[in-house]
Amino acid sequence: MTNYICVTCGCQYAEAVDPPDFCKICADERQFVGFGGQQWTTLEALRASHHNHIEPMEPGLTRIGSEPTFAIGQHMFLVEGAGGNLLWDCITLIDDETIEAIRERGGLSVMALSHPHFLSSIIEWSRAFNGVPIYVNAADRQWVTRSDPAIVFWEGASRNLGEGLTLIHGGGHFDGGTMLHWAAGAEGRGVLLPGDIIQVVNDPHWVSFMYSYANMIPLPASKVGHLVDVVEPFEFERIYSPWLGRIVAEDGKAVVRRSAKRYIDAMGV
Ligand SMILES: [Zn+2]
Ligand SMILES: [Zn+2]
Repeated sequence: MTNYICVTCGCQYAEAVDPPDFCKICADERQFVGFGGQQWTTLEALRASHHNHIEPMEPGLTRIGSEPTFAIGQHMFLVEGAGGNLLWDCITLIDDETIEAIRERGGLSVMALSHPHFLSSIIEWSRAFNGVPIYVNAADRQWVTRSDPAIVFWEGASRNLGEGLTLIHGGGHFDGGTMLHWAAGAEGRGVLLPGDIIQVVNDPHWVSFMYSYANMIPLPASKVGHLVDVVEPFEFERIYSPWLGRIVAEDGKAVVRRSAKRYIDAMGV
């Protein structure tokens, strides 16, 4: 029995003798099946070919990603709090070295996911830390690739996880699209970790909003406006994307506002 992993998106599936017929994440119009067709790998194979890079971003925030890049190349973030740490989003490669590095920083109390593209091997990470709860928005329940009792399907506009950490439901890219607000980040001026529900673009003074980044399918203006509205009550200076080099260093909320205006103007609505 094997927990097969999709090579294109990096999501791990429930234990089985044979791999699934297809990956439901990649078969969706927001993703794609690679040129070579559907391919599968395992954690054992990945551990032999990749390692993780662990990088402090600012006090209390660590970014972790795999080298060389695997699947869609996202990073996950460890956010440290006095009463416990949160792992935001996830990557596929879990190894002893990375588990130990997280333990050195106080371990994990809770995990949370922005959207199903980052499901990766999230169940393995939870199990490595005593089955800590994983917050996944209930609107994305159908996309979960490996069920587990640790998954908490949460509902509502937001969810306070303590330590100044709040999950914000934004929708858009996925119906359950979730962003994390960290009030203590950026020296107390606030940090937004939006996954790609709001995406920092190549020019780090701007963000964008898409239904599909891989296939360049835009979001309707009403959904972009909604994303601006849901982050409005929160103060944040910095925005950290899950991809390298994509960080809005300052004036984050104004960047979201003006980027939404540019986007909606460009759509001509
Ligand atoms: Zn896939
Ligand atoms: Zn995505």
